[in-house]
Amino acid sequence: MANVSKMPALIPNLHPDLSPLAEIAYNLYWAWTPQCRNLFAAVDRASWQRSEHNPIKMLRKLTRKRQERLMANAQFMGQVRQCRRNLRGYLRAKTWYQQKYDRKFNGKIAYFSMEYGLHESLPIYAGGLGVLAGDHLKSAGDLGLPLVGLGIFWKQGYTRQLLDKNGDQVDKFKTLNPEDAPLREITGRSGKPLRIKLPIGPDIVTVRGWRLEVGRIPLVLLDTDLPDNTPKDCRMTRRLYSGDRDTRIRQEILLGVGGWQFLQAMKLPISVCHLNEGHAAFVALKRIAEIISTAGDTFAQAKRYVAATNVFTTHTPVPAGNETFELKLFEKYMGQYAELMKIDSSTFIDLGRIEPGNKKEPFGMTPLACRMSDRRNGVSKLHGAVARDMWKGLWPGKKIKNVPIGSVTNGIHLRTWLHPRMADLLDEYLPQGWEEKQDQPRVWQAVEHIPDEELWRLHQELKAEMIEFAREKARRRLRRNKASAVQVARVGLMLDPEALTIGFARRFAPYKRAALVFENPTRFARILNHSTRPVQIIFAGKAHPADTDGKALVKKVARLADSPRFRNRVVFLEDYEMEIARYLVSGVDVWLNTPRKPQEASGTSGMKPTLHGGLNLSILDGWWPEGFDHRNGWAIGKGQDHDGTRAHDKRDAAELYHILEREVVPLYYQRARDGLPKRWIACMKHSIATIPAVFNSHRQVKEYWSKYYLPAMRKA
Ligand SMILES: *Cc1c(COP(=O)(O)O)cnc(C)c1O
Repeated sequence: MANVSKMPALIPNLHPDLSPLAEIAYNLYWAWTPQCRNLFAAVDRASWQRSEHNPIKMLRKLTRKRQERLMANAQFMGQVRQCRRNLRGYLRAKTWYQQKYDRKFNGKIAYFSMEYGLHESLPIYAGGLGVLAGDHLKSAGDLGLPLVGLGIFWKQGYTRQLLDKNGDQVDKFKTLNPEDAPLREITGRSGKPLRIKLPIGPDIVTVRGWRLEVGRIPLVLLDTDLPDNTPKDCRMTRRLYSGDRDTRIRQEILLGVGGWQFLQAMKLPISVCHLNEGHAAFVALKRIAEIISTAGDTFAQAKRYVAATNVFTTHTPVPAGNETFELKLFEKYMGQYAELMKIDSSTFIDLGRIEPGNKKEPFGMTPLACRMSDRRNGVSKLHGAVARDMWKGLWPGKKIKNVPIGSVTNGIHLRTWLHPRMADLLDEYLPQGWEEKQDQPRVWQAVEHIPDEELWRLHQELKAEMIEFAREKARRRLRRNKASAVQVARVGLMLDPEALTIGFARRFAPYKRAALVFENPTRFARILNHSTRPVQIIFAGKAHPADTDGKALVKKVARLADSPRFRNRVVFLEDYEMEIARYLVSGVDVWLNTPRKPQEASGTSGMKPTLHGGLNLSILDGWWPEGFDHRNGWAIGKGQDHDGTRAHDKRDAAELYHILEREVVPLYYQRARDGLPKRWIACMKHSIATIPAVFNSHRQVKEYWSKYYLPAMRKA
């Protein structure tokens, strides 16, 4: 592997005795290891908060005085050594992969993704797609797979959502300098920073790469913000999912073509490419052109090889959501590939069309990715079926059930989403080594042994913690918006720790219907404001900066939260990111999910609360039909596809109210003599016992390995 500059120099102000802190900070292992997170918090609590849990930023500003105090603290220094020992132990330990496949394969799997949600301090993600990619890398590392991630260093990340007094989303972009992130510049043999010259249409763009350690997995993040480049090229890696079509195609060329070129320059032996969504599909064209020019293969031969070693995961069950490019734009930037691949230009364009020869069809990244990958999948069983139907045109004459698109249902990285206190409880009651065996349903059955009062007490504590966190966020927003002292003080009345609490947090894409609960505001207000059985709901989520409908939804919910009728019972937390997600999924009673079926390919947020006994209340879309067993939550509707009408929205809302009134609320408030909701707790345990065992990313990665990576490795 190409070298990276040495570590200690990267935090030059740090005393050598504190250098283990830098070693820990430069591997994201700390982000899912509570002991390491506590260690950083102990360095300087205020600065830890201010830096948004960014240890590099915090350590770079650590004063001499503070450093001396820390070094004089024997207990702290002991924890430093312990954390470093654990990190090194983790990196050295024999893995699942080594035990099964060691030395069988020399090559690596390159995982391409436009976004990665790894931790809130590295905001290079927009939502579920990124969090999935992050969890995939973490589990791939835990299991020891020979995988390397490839992405883009979005220096200004994604929008930071502020809500103004009127509930309008104000988009803010914060710059993260690479030296304030756990990134090391990738160098070449000579030790000098590695640079590639990437042709993007008529331009040549200089690209550098940053290496991020995600446990055992290296993630290479490309960056064009360099003095060699024009201002326009520098801006290309500034903001995720922003800019016009011209910018977008250049970003996708960077990810696919640039990604491959960079991995080659690093001299990494790559056998298999996994395209997480169609954004990176140009990598296939680059590989084909390279094989033709170096080995003299024909297009057909080269394509056969590339497809045999490509894996493609589609995530978008709505035709319009699948990326296409106008032909003129496509030809401007990619036209030269026809010649490089020794095919004529109409054959070339047809690679991106469902129907070859259809002059009206633009160039689609999903058809291209499907053609260029022999192994393709959707992200839940239902989505697999939807994708087979959607893309059947690519295989004319095949019956839908024989369309070669399979499925691997998404999962979550348990350590990332599990509250440390809940982890302690599981350690106590689950069999030893449960974490390594997390994909064995048997292991989770021991949850039944947790005494009711113990689980309930912990749940109440986590809920109180979440409420305090939400109040603090609300106060900060009010102060920023110049609210009065009285208004700020009133936040103390917001959210009741004893009330049934629902969570709804995800991107505010209109198909997710964040405002569905407000279809009939009077009925919903009655449910929430019941005198003896109150209910409350916490919202969080950003709209894409260019999505006017999504922004209208944000405003609608934010304004309702501020209205007298819903005050203190409906709360909107601004700037949804992974920290908010962690609090919500460990503290809520119910997780609400209301997409228009079948537009939610999988969804993963609902898997996270189940680790803490949260119950799902969801449309039967995405992963839920696989997870739901009538005892671990509720299904809204009978699984009909949404017919696109307002009437259907109203029906879904009515059904939702009905379930809340007749089932959820009564069950929650049905208390035994000791005050415990026995039947509710039984459902909580059942949720823990049945869902994490299946919807974890270890199971997901192992499935990718055995179904797709392993067979593709054998073709390399
Ligand atoms: C898990 C997660 C998501 C995914 O949410 P869905 O409901 O599956 O769309 C999005 N954003 C963040 C911050 C998450 O943690």
